[in-house]
Amino acid sequence: MTLVVRARRVVLPDGERAAAVHTAGGVVTAVTGFDDVPASAVTLADDEVLLPGLVDSHVHVNEPGRTEWEGFATATRAAAAGGITTIVDMPLNSVPATTTVEALRVKREAAAGQVAVDVAFWGGAVPGNAGQLRPMHEAGVVGFKCFLLDSGVPEFPPLDDAGLRAALAELATFDGLLIAHAEDEQVIDAAPEPSGASYAAFLASRPPAAEETAIGRLVAATRDTGARSHVVHLADGDALPLLRAARASGVRVTVETCPHYLTFAAEDVPDGDTAFKCCPPIREAVHREALWEALRVGDVDLVVSDHSPCTPELKRLDVGDFGLAWGGIAGLQVALPAVWTGARARGLPLAQVMGWMSAAPALLAGLPGKGAIAVGRDADLVAFAPDERFTVGRLEHRNPVTPYAGRELTGVVRRTWLRGREADGSPLGRLLDRGGR
Ligand SMILES: [Zn+2]
Repeated sequence: MTLVVRARRVVLPDGERAAAVHTAGGVVTAVTGFDDVPASAVTLADDEVLLPGLVDSHVHVNEPGRTEWEGFATATRAAAAGGITTIVDMPLNSVPATTTVEALRVKREAAAGQVAVDVAFWGGAVPGNAGQLRPMHEAGVVGFKCFLLDSGVPEFPPLDDAGLRAALAELATFDGLLIAHAEDEQVIDAAPEPSGASYAAFLASRPPAAEETAIGRLVAATRDTGARSHVVHLADGDALPLLRAARASGVRVTVETCPHYLTFAAEDVPDGDTAFKCCPPIREAVHREALWEALRVGDVDLVVSDHSPCTPELKRLDVGDFGLAWGGIAGLQVALPAVWTGARARGLPLAQVMGWMSAAPALLAGLPGKGAIAVGRDADLVAFAPDERFTVGRLEHRNPVTPYAGRELTGVVRRTWLRGREADGSPLGRLLDRGGR
């Protein structure tokens, strides 16, 4: 099966230009001049740019066990609609949590046959499972997630300092990767309790110092063990100097942020609107701008959704109580337009956005077929209209609660191809192993 797509603007690893992308058997076979095409070539409209498929390395699918929150069919349909051709599923919120080889088998069985895009899996590092890490690595997980404080679900307990170091030491023996939810329990315990509809009170309950303290612990343990670690969903601009210094001194730590931290600001979150509740919280605009600047200069490596939905009941929109509501934001389908809207307003180019949202997450997750339009890579392509505006309406996610509802964004995904086939929501996706295709 062959497909040739050409456009006046194609985002390639070395920048943007007019080109034709030739594919066969689901793989890119050549990138040629715009005019060097067969009669069957698809030509994008003048207002469309051809992008590599996005890779979202931070998605909570929750199936099996909490499929009513989100499942593989709905999550991957939302991904395809949003130009995301690969997701990496988080090990928690499903039951069982992916903390053993057997639980990985159960997860893969639940996903098989119903995924509209490609799916890879994170394992989990929890107290007492250090001996499971190498077998899970060999079974194909891309790395391991841990929490440094209560995760919100009892089946996925956090690592204390000794547990963190034990996990990193074990991972260092096979150059595995540990990704960490970095907030510190003691700092949060010492802060005021969140309660009621006040967003300011919720924000005060999870101060920036909680992120800085936990990141400090992670950096020290990463340095001492020589392992690789990654900070998920950074919200705190004040933690950037600490990370910059660690990286400059050779500590192997990378960092991601999320579309909601780049889009919203605490000053604008309405009291009682728990659709905005996530942990760490959306902070003040000064943090948002620091994160944008860090992306611009390369101090933050990637932007991924942290899509973490639940049922509307658990969001407690009935009472609007930030203390009671589940923390997690649903935004997988609008990740690209949300980030592009912000990047465009700040004069940052689309090619750089693709670095954060396609190339860098593919590298983090060790998926060599993904992350770029280049010969030998998978033919994962997106036709994107970067100047078209739209208002966020019904999304493909299982549950419709999202802080993006009704928001006007710029940039419309018009078509997505997965390995050369139109990603129309039907189950074309594959389950991927680390390093695999
Ligand atoms: Zn998450």
